[in-house]
Amino acid sequence: MIIVPEKIIPELIDRKTSFDAVEAVFGAMARGDAYNFPVIREDIGYADALYGFKSGFDKAGLALGLKSGGYWPGNDAKGLTNHQSTVFLFNPDTGQLKAIVGGNYLTAVRTAAASAVSIKHLARQDSKVLGMIGAGHQSAFQMRAALEQRSFEKVIGWNFHPEMLSRLADTAEEFDLPFEAVDLDQLGAQADVIISITSSFDPILKDVQVKAGTHIACMGTDTKGKQEVEAALVARATVFTDEIAQATTIGECQHAIAEGLMAEGDITVLGAVINGEHQGRTSDDEVTLFDGTGVGLQDLAVASAAVELAVKAGIAIEVDL
Ligand code: NAD
Repeated sequence: MIIVPEKIIPELIDRKTSFDAVEAVFGAMARGDAYNFPVIREDIGYADALYGFKSGFDKAGLALGLKSGGYWPGNDAKGLTNHQSTVFLFNPDTGQLKAIVGGNYLTAVRTAAASAVSIKHLARQDSKVLGMIGAGHQSAFQMRAALEQRSFEKVIGWNFHPEMLSRLADTAEEFDLPFEAVDLDQLGAQADVIISITSSFDPILKDVQVKAGTHIACMGTDTKGKQEVEAALVARATVFTDEIAQATTIGECQHAIAEGLMAEGDITVLGAVINGEHQGRTSDDEVTLFDGTGVGLQDLAVASAAVELAVKAGIAIEVDL
């Protein structure tokens, strides 16, 4: 059995590795070669923690396992990350435990890879302005992965807590790109691609604010009740997702469906576009929206890559069970 500790993962996994792993598993899901098991998420009634499992099996990539973890709001005060997770991989031929992999950094890169895959397949080729809504921990990972997908010339951003916007400015600077803090009217009017990555429970971006031809990746809504964009915007857009069952229950689509503005049948899995079974964007005026809810198979895909790279580099810890 192999252990890949959290602290060595950032040096192992680069953006291309996680992008390729996530794109491949989305394709496998759309072909029916990989599937996610029902998600468990519980308030454990201790330390205000939410704890759960995301699990699945990818027959094509032979990744079987789960990510276990959750949210401990008191961790910040202890100098720890509030979100904590660990991935467990099993041998699909024998059921034996194959690897334990730190899941915190992997969660950020696999989530960023998902929106980047959506931008690659759905954004207009001539996209120049990236709009960011959210400036928390995930936002820098999101921006870095997105900027590699098109020849962006500028980043603009808005955040509920404006004092956090320096993270977006600093990240844009890594790419020698200008950053401007804007209001939501300006953001919707200028951005060709918008990423929302907040923990909001109320719509932030309104339908009327978004110009024709925009691609929006809604990445923050991963729980019942959360919401980042107005339901009318979701209804106006051509909607893609990682997994339809999650989009309708815990994703951004939950609100448009509850309001009767759209139906499950209006949603396409991004994997169908990756596999060439759906054409994706059909015109420069179309608004496309990716509802990225986050699936266990993304975690298994990047964790498998981390194990392979750690073994290759001779830095995996091997333990006899
Ligand atoms: P964080 O705590 O570091 O940042 C939170 C962000 O949300 C900040 O931009 C903050 O200003 C904003 N925010 C907080 N309260 C708000 C409010 N009431 N209205 C509007 N914005 C508000 O969190 P993070 O690690 O960057 O994660 C952001 C979100 O992404 C979380 O909701 C998290 O659950 C979600 N997430 C989704 C996936 C996925 O696969 N889809 C994966 C990881 C995280």
